[in-house]
Amino acid sequence: MEPGENPNAYLIEQIRAGSQAAWKELIDSYSGRLLAFARARTSSLADAEDLVQETFIGFLQSATHFDPTRSLETYLFTILRYKLYDLLRSKKMKMVSEPADSEDWWDRIVPGTEETPSGIAVQAEATGEQAKLLSEVLRELIHDMRDRQAFTDLQVIELLFFGGRRNIEIGELLEIDQKAVAGIKFRAIQKLQKFLANRDVSDLSCLDESQADITVARVWREQRLTCLKRSTLGSLSLGVLDEPWKSYTQFHLDVVACPMCVANLADIDDEEEERTDADTERMFQSSVGFLKKSTMN
Ligand SMILES: [Zn+2]
Repeated sequence: MEPGENPNAYLIEQIRAGSQAAWKELIDSYSGRLLAFARARTSSLADAEDLVQETFIGFLQSATHFDPTRSLETYLFTILRYKLYDLLRSKKMKMVSEPADSEDWWDRIVPGTEETPSGIAVQAEATGEQAKLLSEVLRELIHDMRDRQAFTDLQVIELLFFGGRRNIEIGELLEIDQKAVAGIKFRAIQKLQKFLANRDVSDLSCLDESQADITVARVWREQRLTCLKRSTLGSLSLGVLDEPWKSYTQFHLDVVACPMCVANLADIDDEEEERTDADTERMFQSSVGFLKKSTMN
């Protein structure tokens, strides 16, 4: 199961039908990683917990818009990020734990209105077909690079499209020539165009010179094409992940600094401390009223 895929379609169906048990299960599964994400970005634990509670409520309020073929985890992180931005704006605060070198692209980019939960749903409908095709060919490209163990190529395009880095930064991070970066990008786009042509797609507008960067980056981030499986992060945490995957996993966490995978790993590392049932219960009690409302819509 890839992180971009959603194993929770059935769970969401039950939640929409008003099942409290299903709602509790969702909170139990996701509160740890959401809390880890929020705690890294707020000054107090109370603020972080409030944000996660609001995220769950926000999910219920928008549950009718949620497309269950999309990743539930990514959707929840997106709502949380939006709530976080609201909180910081209302307090006129800056990110508390802003990484010194602003490694974290999610903290560098202000969420747009299109990233509100209902905005996402509308956008998904408008570009669904094209985005689906593009994610297919991107997966093909990524698998091809992994199979050939062309890790430098993969790291370059991951930093470019997922990490939002410029050529010059990538050159410095990977200690390669800027021209080599540009060459890898050029060949990657060519390959994507070839993959699309193989599928008899004649309209390549999503890979137009002017559009490619934005479109590819959006699809890559939405689908989290190179994000790590929870089981892979678990293996890393236990110290049983073999090379070259260990280095590649570490790259996604340390160099790309993917905020969602970093939060997942923190959650896994914390699991031994065990969150109390009281935490889950509190999140449940604060949001369960919205469960009834959302199912009446
Ligand atoms: Zn990730």
